[in-house]
Amino acid sequence: MSTSPFDLTGALALVTGSSRGIGNALAAGLAQAGATVVLHGRDPYALEAQREDFAGRYGEDRIWAVPFDITDESSVVDAMDSIESRIGPLDILVNNAGVQHRVPLVDLALEDWSRVLATNLTAAFLVGREAARHMVQRGHGKIVNIGSVQCDLARPTIGAYTAAKGGLRNLTRAMAAEWAQHGLQVNAVAPGYIHTEMTQPLVDDEAFNAWICGRTPAARWGTVEDLTGPVTWLASPASAFVNGQTIFVDGGMTAVV
Ligand code: NDP
Repeated sequence: MSTSPFDLTGALALVTGSSRGIGNALAAGLAQAGATVVLHGRDPYALEAQREDFAGRYGEDRIWAVPFDITDESSVVDAMDSIESRIGPLDILVNNAGVQHRVPLVDLALEDWSRVLATNLTAAFLVGREAARHMVQRGHGKIVNIGSVQCDLARPTIGAYTAAKGGLRNLTRAMAAEWAQHGLQVNAVAPGYIHTEMTQPLVDDEAFNAWICGRTPAARWGTVEDLTGPVTWLASPASAFVNGQTIFVDGGMTAVV
C-alpha cells in the first residue's frame, strides 16, 4: 500500500469539461495518481472518444464518461445523483468547464453576459452544491475550482469572464467557510496564459507572444502539465489543511507589475 500523501488510489473524481483542453490534462493527472475518473462535457461523441482513449491508458474499470449541461439545474441534479448511485461516492470534484467571450463591455449583450456567468460561476455553485450535499454527509471531499489570472486582474474585452472568475474566487472562500468544518477542502487553481490548441493563434501572434513572455517572470507560456501537479496536490491528502485558497499557477504574472 502506498504511503504517499499524493496517492489517489481508490478515490473517485469528476472533472467538468474534461472532453478536451485543460480539463482533459487535469483528468489524466488524477488518473495517473491512481484515481477513478469521470470524464465530462456536453458532446457525447467527443466524450466517448476520450473515454476509450483514457480506458486504454488507465484501465476500462477506472474511466467513466457522463455528459450533461452544467448550466441546467435539473440535468446537474440528475447527473450527480446518477454518478453517486451508479459509479460510487464522489471524493473529488474539479469545476473546470468554462467559456470565454471577447467583446467590449459597451457592446456586450445581456444574453452573452448571462451565458458566461452561468457557465463560469453559477455552474460551479450548482455542481459544487450537489457534490457537497453528499460529501458533507460523509465528512470528507475535495473541490478544486479552476479560475484564471482574471480571478484578480482585468483586461479589456473580457468583462463578463473577469466578473465570473472574480466571483469564483470568492465562491471558493464561501464554500470553505461552510464546508471546511465538515471535512471538505475547497480551493481554486488560477492558471496564467496556457499554451493550448485554443491559444495557438495568440502564441503565433508575434506582438502578443512578446507581451506574454515579457509580462511573465518565468518568461514563457504555461503548459497544461504545469497545472496537473497543483490540482493533484489539492485533490490529495497532502493538502488536508489548505482551505479557501486560490493558487496562482502563472509563472509569477500576478506577483509583479
Ligand atoms: P476548452 O474550451 O478547451 O474546453 C471547455 C470544456 O468545457 C469542454 O470539455 C466543453 O465540452 C466543456 N463545457 C463548456 N460549456 C459547458 C457546459 N455548459 N456544460 C458542460 N460542459 C461544458 O476550455 P479550456 O481548456 O481552455 O479551459 C478550461 C478552464 O480553464 C476554463 O475554466 C477556463 O476559464 C480556464 N482557463 C483557461 C486558460 C487557457 O489558456 N485556455 C487560462 C486560464 C484559465 P462541450 O463543448 O462538449 O460541452
